[in-house]
Amino acid sequence: MKLCMIGTGYVGLVSGTCFADIGHTVYCVDKNISKIDKLNSGQSPIYEPGLDELIKENCRAKRLFFTTNLSDALNKSDIVFICVGTPNKKNSLSVDLTYVFKVAKEIKKLSKNKKIIVTKSTVPVGTGNLIEKLVKNKKKFTVVSNPEFLREGDAIRDFRYPDRIVIGSNSLHAFKIMKNLYLPLINKGAKFFTTNRNGAELIKYASNAFLATKITFINEIANLCEKTGINVEDISLGIGSDARIGSRFLRAGPAYGGSCFPKDTKGLVSIGEKVKIDLSIVKSVIKSNESRKFLLLNRINDIFGKRVKNKKVVFLGVTFKPNTDDMRDAVSLYMIPRLLKRKAIVSYYDPTGEKNEFNKLKNCTFYSDVNKACKNADLIILHTEWDEFKSLNFSKIIKKKKIVLYDLRNLYNTEEMRRKKIKYFSIGRPSIN
Ligand code: NAD
Repeated sequence: MKLCMIGTGYVGLVSGTCFADIGHTVYCVDKNISKIDKLNSGQSPIYEPGLDELIKENCRAKRLFFTTNLSDALNKSDIVFICVGTPNKKNSLSVDLTYVFKVAKEIKKLSKNKKIIVTKSTVPVGTGNLIEKLVKNKKKFTVVSNPEFLREGDAIRDFRYPDRIVIGSNSLHAFKIMKNLYLPLINKGAKFFTTNRNGAELIKYASNAFLATKITFINEIANLCEKTGINVEDISLGIGSDARIGSRFLRAGPAYGGSCFPKDTKGLVSIGEKVKIDLSIVKSVIKSNESRKFLLLNRINDIFGKRVKNKKVVFLGVTFKPNTDDMRDAVSLYMIPRLLKRKAIVSYYDPTGEKNEFNKLKNCTFYSDVNKACKNADLIILHTEWDEFKSLNFSKIIKKKKIVLYDLRNLYNTEEMRRKKIKYFSIGRPSIN
């Protein structure tokens, strides 16, 4: 089949490349010229393991193309995917659909032939209906919802082996075409699930809100563990072994961040508000997650005995999770400016390089070498659990000072830290100091 992906970001680029890889011809469109230029010169604008190679292979096979020419890409395709961003409106819980509607209008204006329009962007319940009204034009278009569930860092695997493929429509013809599109994955065991369009839109928000709730729940239990000398990992194992609960998303850590959970939990609350339904559990999750960031800062205050001024604090990893360069809603964006305000001297190392977000901050330095970043640290904060941090030998890196480590991901073994005489703090585990 011939596909047009509008929006070549984390979702559009990965799913477009993977669709090409299962045999379709894919035109990826973006309005960002430098992004498309970069892709056409063989470089991925985002960090996602395995993506560079897959892009190159499929471009070479002439199944994958990158362009800024929407009209051309649209008119060569049978199915068009909307993959643009859906952020929250400024200072509001509700979802900004400007980019989605702009694309819908462009599709209507530029399309010369019949098409299926698929929303892959995460959109509030009823958006498909609004798009349908917007593009209404001699019944040329069928609007389908196909929410995306891939996780950054594992995105290619998630595309190839999805837990489920959700398609929302009231057209049997559209279900048939979408099933054909995904057939290579369905043949390998992916569950193909159909519902109406509103249902598919809500499945995406409800999934993300549920996962955010699970994380927030274990984070609160971790707080309790810290006060009662219990290891939260025992609790995760103990409750996660119950098949009704499940073991995933029960790892205590910092607050959840990233490009989806924070905005989608808020988005869901605003969907509820529009129909006067109080989603009180989701509201509590949002509140708890926000206060968690403050709690982490207070813990740092306590570690320093309230004397943060002039202390050298090093962040290992600043992205919201490993194996991605995505900084959206990363907890580091909250913590670093506040530590600087308390007059700490901050430096950071991240495997995906320097971040624009911290460029303008005074006393915040990027190091491209992890050893140099840590050398004179008063406190090391393990913020993102990249594999390369697992084997760091802190005793070798820091020689002149007592090593103090705050591990926000429980990456290290408490007993080992004690043996190495490292002053070690982690999340929801009994203190060893
Ligand atoms: P992104 O910001 O990385 O990418 C969006 C892209 O759309 C950008 O490159 C932007 O330049 C482009 N764009 C905007 N308007 C355009 C237009 N008129 N024409 C052409 N291109 C245009 O966003 P993302 O992370 O890929 O997310 C996209 C959607 O998918 C969102 O709704 C998000 O909630 C959802 N989603 C994201 C993830 C994730 O892990 N990132 C996972 C599942 C679902």
